[in-house]
Amino acid sequence: MRIILLGAPGSGKGAVGERLERAYGFPRIATGDLLRRAVQEQTPLGRRAAEHMGRGGLVPDELVVALVRERLAAGDAQAGYILDGFPRTIAQARSLEALDPGSAEVVVDIEADEETIVRRLEARRLCPRCAAVYNVRSRPPRRADVCDEDGETLVRREDDRPEIVRKRLRVYGEQTEPLVGYYAGKGLLHRVAGDGTVDETFAQVRPIIDRALAGAGKEQTAR
Ligand code: AMP
Repeated sequence: MRIILLGAPGSGKGAVGERLERAYGFPRIATGDLLRRAVQEQTPLGRRAAEHMGRGGLVPDELVVALVRERLAAGDAQAGYILDGFPRTIAQARSLEALDPGSAEVVVDIEADEETIVRRLEARRLCPRCAAVYNVRSRPPRRADVCDEDGETLVRREDDRPEIVRKRLRVYGEQTEPLVGYYAGKGLLHRVAGDGTVDETFAQVRPIIDRALAGAGKEQTAR
């Protein structure tokens, strides 16, 4: 089973993805995290990705698909996995289907209004070492500006600056939102409201995943 989390930047994909990971034991694969690590380590891919990420644009499909292919080959995603931030274009969605054609799919679109998104991204802080995410208002670290996990000083993501956020939202509308129609057409799309707390969003997501898993189980038994 693969769980695809769709939604604009700041809609809550990361937080919901973490809850899903804990609840179902499937690994969460966040292409943004993988790319930021590649940039930090200055790999050839990271160097190519950095210029797009810094400007709020999308990294070219072939680079991101190569990262996901490599990540899926790690072998811990046999029973299922959670995709956060991938696919972001219809071409990526098709590549994913070709990469792992046998997997049942469920798609959750987390919808949040622009005001909520801008407010959340303004308050978001990231641990540059372990990628843990905080929100200074709703999910603050125990000590101000310090990661609970490893004591590293938290940072703001460069691309959370307001002018880059506006660009990312535009890119989302133009290149990623068409996936909503794409997956709706396949009968795979579920919409949830993402304006509330993580608990409130997760409470809507959980029954969707439970039903999808039950359905996938039945299909396998029938085969
Ligand atoms: P995120 O952490 O998901 O907000 O991603 C941060 C940035 O990484 C995005 O603004 C893009 O530049 C890049 N990125 C992440 N995932 C993808 C993807 N699937 N396709 C293209 N670019 C991506």
